[in-house]
Amino acid sequence: MMHNADPNTPLALIVDDDPTFRTLSRMSLEQEELRLEEVASGQAAVEFATTCMPDIVILDVQMLGMDGFTTCQRLRQLPGGDFVPILMMTGLDDVESIAKAYDMGATDFIIKPCHGLILSQRVRYMLRASRTLNALRISASSLAQAQRIAQLGGWEWDFVHDRLEVSDAVCHILGILPNSFNHTQSAYLGCVHEEDRDLVAKAMREAVPDGTGFGLDHRVIHTNGTEHIVHFQGEVLTDDVGQPQRMLGTVQDVTDERATDAKIYFLANYDSLTHLPNRNLFLHRTAQAISCGMGTNVIGALLVLTLDRYQRINDLYGPRSGAQVLREVTARLQPVLSTGMTVAQAAGAETTMLARLGEDQFAALLTNLSTAEDSAKVAQCLLTSLEAPFQVGNATITLTASIGIAIPGTDGTEADLLLHHAVTALQAAQRQDHNSYQYYSHSMNVSIAARVSLEQDLRAAMTANQFVLYFQPQVDILSEAIIGVEALIRWQHPTRSLVSPAQFIPVAEEEDLIIQLSEWVIKNASQQQKTWRNSGLPPFPISINLSSLHFRQRNLIKQIRSIVHENGGDPHYIELELTEGMLMADASTTVATLKQLKELGFRLAIDDFGTGYSSLAYLQKFPIDTLKIDRAFVKDINLGKADSPIMRAIIGMGRALKLHVVAEGVETRDQLSFLRMQGCAAYQGFLFSKPVPPQQLLPLLRSHLRQPIPKSA
Ligand code: C2E
Ligand code: MG
Ligand code: MG
Repeated sequence: MMHNADPNTPLALIVDDDPTFRTLSRMSLEQEELRLEEVASGQAAVEFATTCMPDIVILDVQMLGMDGFTTCQRLRQLPGGDFVPILMMTGLDDVESIAKAYDMGATDFIIKPCHGLILSQRVRYMLRASRTLNALRISASSLAQAQRIAQLGGWEWDFVHDRLEVSDAVCHILGILPNSFNHTQSAYLGCVHEEDRDLVAKAMREAVPDGTGFGLDHRVIHTNGTEHIVHFQGEVLTDDVGQPQRMLGTVQDVTDERATDAKIYFLANYDSLTHLPNRNLFLHRTAQAISCGMGTNVIGALLVLTLDRYQRINDLYGPRSGAQVLREVTARLQPVLSTGMTVAQAAGAETTMLARLGEDQFAALLTNLSTAEDSAKVAQCLLTSLEAPFQVGNATITLTASIGIAIPGTDGTEADLLLHHAVTALQAAQRQDHNSYQYYSHSMNVSIAARVSLEQDLRAAMTANQFVLYFQPQVDILSEAIIGVEALIRWQHPTRSLVSPAQFIPVAEEEDLIIQLSEWVIKNASQQQKTWRNSGLPPFPISINLSSLHFRQRNLIKQIRSIVHENGGDPHYIELELTEGMLMADASTTVATLKQLKELGFRLAIDDFGTGYSSLAYLQKFPIDTLKIDRAFVKDINLGKADSPIMRAIIGMGRALKLHVVAEGVETRDQLSFLRMQGCAAYQGFLFSKPVPPQQLLPLLRSHLRQPIPKSA
């Protein structure tokens, strides 16, 4: 008997075996916005609810057949029955039956007979509470569902008592069972990958006093061994006075997202065929290197390489073979550049990167080169690495390549412009022979070419006897008497006339020719000493320049001694000139070497003093006799800086340390008088004489030579 037909109106079911009470209940509720149904037994109520679950049940306790308790219990077991409000009506107001009613799942109870108004109020209240609860349940379940979909869990940490509440989803994400979690911060940290643990603890710790939040990714390993990445986020809640109280946050499994991010990053920045960085990343890294000083403080180079006639391989053997060749090319180029291999490193390149720009075009970035020309060595090695034949299916093919080089700073200060210039240089290389490289700037090509021919000529000069020794007098500053000479090597090149040692010594040092050259100088200086002695001149010291490579030779002492001895030289009248850099390189072995040289009778000088470390400490530490002040300081005097405090300091210091101070490169009378005033002992320079061959020096020696300075200890 329906009172209200609107299906949105709540449905109330009255269950009572007494028709009078049913009528009374109905009458009490008739004014309410309800659809009313009534049944006369517990069994009938269960059947009714099986087909249509009411929104509220008013249930009599004492009924024939199935009583109210059992009916309540049965209703609760039906689908959708667990949350239906059930109001039990009982005539028995004993505590036991009330308690039993609740045990069976009753929502509330009322004693009958009751006033109609009380019943209607109670029903209204129960329906409202049920609606609110339902709404809450729905929102909680949709939240939980949303969190499940997002793989998101929530947590709350009372850091004062170290009580960490986590949702089931958090446990699921951490790969643990909810009841195994012991609700402390360390329990959470225990689930974090051990390498990330400190990071997480630090983030949580630092957020508390700051009253701020944090968010970070960390790894967790599930019991089945799988690694997951989770995003862990938290925020500090403060009380009314801003005091941190609790921390609230979420944990989200972001493994898939991060994998996707990595994939997207890879596709955007790497070449999928060779797995090398692509143009995008190459330009980015180049720009980074430029902003870190490449082209200004740091010498770098951009190399672009293409394979000659690559397209023919594709046409002849198909794209699959083409791809195979590119992979093989990558495998050969990479070791030339990668750290651990010596080539790029030998050229001084600290950071290198190989990229594939497209089709058969590769690029390399070199930074921290010693000189821009060193990029040519790397280019040559890249070309050489491709020389061995490639196997394509059954065919064996040979490839050649061309390289274009742009130098940051000289050829541009922007990544894409540099790359453009390297490609322009590449095109020039392609027009030349196969297997060649070209610089963008013409001057580089010229200097490389000049250097290459210098290297070749230098080797030939050794055998062709094209070297000669010149000598420059060292003069006492007060008496202008010659007190010694410096031996300076000259190269009489058949076509270039006299080549300066400043030009060829660095090349000789790099090409391992310097030892041979040094031996030649020592030998010839010793022979010259003997010649002068034989011609009746009193003995005087000859200064010989030692190169750093030679100085580091293991058998230096033995070798020098025997050369000097065999060629009639006298160590007591030979001064070896070393530079500051040579002494600083390895102080402990240096002291030992210097001592041995001193024991053999050689005098020791520091050449070009002031240009290196200029450290006072080592002057005391090393057994040095002479300090040669670099020409640059003497030149300064000329520029009107006559009160040069540096010069004054160096001379003063040298004298205080009882060193023989010689000024180099004295060209004017003004410089000379300044040095004289400062108490400098001797000088060397064009003012007195340029370096000259022995026959030209002889008359000067005859007229100006004085007794040599006393032998060193
Ligand atoms: P250094 O040992 O400092 O030699 C002095 C240089 O200054 C010489 O240059 C000399 O010609 C130049 N000079 C001397 N007086 C004056 C002057 O008044 N004005 C100017 N402008 N220059 C002056 P050089 O002969 O060209 O040698 C350059 C450098 O090459 C030398 O510097 C030395 O480091 C190296 N060198 C020369 N000969 C040898 C050698 O036999 N063995 C080694 N390892 N290095 C050598
Ligand atoms: Mg010298
Ligand atoms: Mg010098």
